[in-house]
Amino acid sequence: MSDPLCPYCSFLLKKRPKRKTKCPNCSCYIYVKWESRGDERTLITQKERDEIEELRMREYEKARVSQKELMIKNIQEYQESLVGVLGVVGTRFILSENHHHEDGCQRHAEADLHGLGKGVYPLGKSPLPVEGCTLNYEVAVFDDEIEKPKKKTINWNHC
Ligand SMILES: [Zn+2]
Ligand SMILES: [Zn+2]
Repeated sequence: MSDPLCPYCSFLLKKRPKRKTKCPNCSCYIYVKWESRGDERTLITQKERDEIEELRMREYEKARVSQKELMIKNIQEYQESLVGVLGVVGTRFILSENHHHEDGCQRHAEADLHGLGKGVYPLGKSPLPVEGCTLNYEVAVFDDEIEKPKKKTINWNHC
């Protein structure tokens, strides 16, 4: 291990600090970067620490965004796959078991806007993908699952 030098003024410290420490020579704050293996640690400046933090945040954000994009793509591919499928009238909005926060999703799952049943939307009318909410999904609904309005039943009897 190299000498514990202050990353600002190169002052030789008595021992290698384990956490944020003030340099006794230049009074700047020395930060500690733990290496992934063992207890190797590098002494870094505040600026370097900030850069590492920012990089980590960017990596995290990138991973989050790509996961979100994948979920949206899955939803859209499913919707496209249903177009033209015989008997499919729409999709039912399914609220994820892991969806615990209150937002518009509960309403989407409960609403019967098209007379097709709770949370059922005609193809192309589905509220999915919900902006900022990728937990929920939908399943295809076939015409024989829809409760037919009474009037129609009477018409059927006439046929
Ligand atoms: Zn110093
Ligand atoms: Zn939601």
